[in-house]
Amino acid sequence: MKPQTEQPPEEGHGSVDTSRMSAGQRAAVEATESAREGLAGSEGFAAGVFLGDFRLDRVFPIPEPAADDASRTEAFLKKLAEVLRQADPDQIDRDGEIPGDIIEALAGIGAFGIKIPEEYGGLGLSQTAYIRAATLLGSWCGNLTALLSAHQSIGVPQPLLLFGTEEQKAKYLPRFPKGEISAFALTEVKAGSDPSRMEATAEPDESGEYYLLNGEKLWCTNGTRASVIIAMARTPSDNREGKHRGGITAFIVEMDTPGVEVVRRCHFMGLRALYNGVIRFNNVRVPRANILLEEGKGLKVALTTLNTGRLTLPAACAGLAKRCLGITRKWAAEREQWGAPVGRHAAIAEKIGRMAGEVYVLEAMNSLTARLIDAVHGSDIRFEAAMCKMWGTERAWRIVDDTLQIRGGRGYETAESLQVRGEEAVPVERYFRDSRINTIFEGSSEIMRLFLAREALDPHLQTAGAVFDTRLPMGKRVSALLKAAGFYARWYPTRWLPRQVSGLSGFPPPLRRHLRFAARAARKLSRKLFHAMLWHGPKLEREQLLLGNIVDAGTEIFAVTAVCLRARQDLETSSSPERREEILSIVDTFCAGSRRRIRQSLQGRDRTLSRGRYRLAKEVLENRYLWLEEGVLTTEEAKEKS
Ligand SMILES: Cc1cc2nc3c(=O)[nH]c(=O)nc-3n(C[C@H](O)[C@H](O)[C@H](O)COP(=O)(O)OP(=O)(O)OC[C@H]3O[C@@H](n4cnc5c(N)ncnc54)[C@H](O)[C@@H]3O)c2cc1C
Repeated sequence: MKPQTEQPPEEGHGSVDTSRMSAGQRAAVEATESAREGLAGSEGFAAGVFLGDFRLDRVFPIPEPAADDASRTEAFLKKLAEVLRQADPDQIDRDGEIPGDIIEALAGIGAFGIKIPEEYGGLGLSQTAYIRAATLLGSWCGNLTALLSAHQSIGVPQPLLLFGTEEQKAKYLPRFPKGEISAFALTEVKAGSDPSRMEATAEPDESGEYYLLNGEKLWCTNGTRASVIIAMARTPSDNREGKHRGGITAFIVEMDTPGVEVVRRCHFMGLRALYNGVIRFNNVRVPRANILLEEGKGLKVALTTLNTGRLTLPAACAGLAKRCLGITRKWAAEREQWGAPVGRHAAIAEKIGRMAGEVYVLEAMNSLTARLIDAVHGSDIRFEAAMCKMWGTERAWRIVDDTLQIRGGRGYETAESLQVRGEEAVPVERYFRDSRINTIFEGSSEIMRLFLAREALDPHLQTAGAVFDTRLPMGKRVSALLKAAGFYARWYPTRWLPRQVSGLSGFPPPLRRHLRFAARAARKLSRKLFHAMLWHGPKLEREQLLLGNIVDAGTEIFAVTAVCLRARQDLETSSSPERREEILSIVDTFCAGSRRRIRQSLQGRDRTLSRGRYRLAKEVLENRYLWLEEGVLTTEEAKEKS
């Protein structure tokens, strides 16, 4: 039973009440709310978890990829591995350039058109194939991963496949498999996570057939090499008697159009061969035919593209994590200190055990989500993909950090320096620099938690949002209250009752135990969310830490489920008893940790502490603790003195 399946009290209600927000907050929330149009009412597995509906049947049996896709994927991955072996990731890092012959070789095997259908000259492979390619890439070279991923996860092919007209697809898609590179330009100096601050504009000209694009885009990956990009710009409303819808619009922009200027290439802590730049538009004439979807629907294009697109980063992270596990395994066994290999000391062993479990889970979550995408085109995997991105990039970052710690001083030394000293050129220092960005771009961890919290609250907003909406007349709010009360009087008690999880009999007993726990935890989670709504009312959206705990618990429940599903499949296909024992050991160890994290998240005992910290942070921002910063040199002071 889900709130939105029964009649909501207010037809179509469910948006956030923005009437008491500051102008900036209101603009930001309204922009993202309008991009959600038509997306409410998720039927996905992870969406159900927040409602206490543990619907295993939504993910089990795991959909199988088509037989020919699997064999073509293997053939492509073999070719990709061959090309990658020719590329020296440390040299690419040192030079800050990807050699032209590597880009040509990638184009030669179709790596710029992995998911583009064969009718447009692409490989026509599945999402499952694509994320396996990302895992391979992520295990080898962050720069090559970013080149291919920015091009086909968020660059032109993906939004074009989702929203392009037949004409647009026929015109642009065939260019990419041949090696043309694309990019995605949303961010600006003032518009980072909050696109409502966007300043780039696109004004229709007199004929209405062209738009004049003006403004500047920041950090556009592949922007310095792309031949065509997706650019977001503000289009005016009520221009020419309301003919124009207004809002943010997505345009396909040819980079050789007069007025497009690559102002500079940006350089970063890692990913040093990223072709990332500042792009300026000076009265760039873009045909109306190059609008994707519709005028004013640019954020919908961006957010929907990212729903699938953001699976690439955690897939690449899985590859990186596997490499780290290999490096750690070798080093922790051979390096002896204090009379034993370092891996035998409990503090290091703990990290290795956790790493092994997480490597298995990372792949399980990514692959399950990709299979769901492949099984039902257009299936709603918003929750799952955001969970993969948030969980995967955070865990991978900790795995890289732990690997560096376990390698000790050698973890901090560059691969080149290690080699010059006669040691193995292990590139953990590069991994560290290259992977730090993963929790920031394509939706930072904080924004992923907000996004998941908003989606988790959606069924409740649909049901009870009108009660708290001060924009509605009192009569409507009272009537909404009565309907919501009737609904919750039936829904809430069922969240306490134990329920059979259908489909469990297909799992071996150790896995059943974990899945039963996940189902119980989902019911507890739904109660916690409901209690939080009652307690905080419309202010709940501001309780980021509380919602973050709820989202983290939901994500762990998805992780436990994904790992049990993968383990079931692996147990079935593995003939060796040792391997089966190993699989169960990994699952048990991971799930034990997950239970503890879920309990901690749901207890949320640290509220007083977090309120204290919030107050302290506020005071720090009000410059009340400047004395803490005394006694050091700052760049401002150095400038003043010089
Ligand atoms: C190497 C690199 C490549 C990139 N490639 C592209 C690209 O190809 N195309 C493109 O359009 N953009 C790209 N970006 C931009 C990237 O997506 C942004 O950096 C990201 O969206 C965050 O924006 P910001 O850096 O301005 O941080 P801000 O939005 O200024 O946020 C600063 C911090 O505050 C947190 N925060 C913000 N809002 C909230 C909130 N409401 N609640 C809690 N925390 C919050 C953020 O998580 C972050 O930790 C790239 C950036 C980099 C560094």
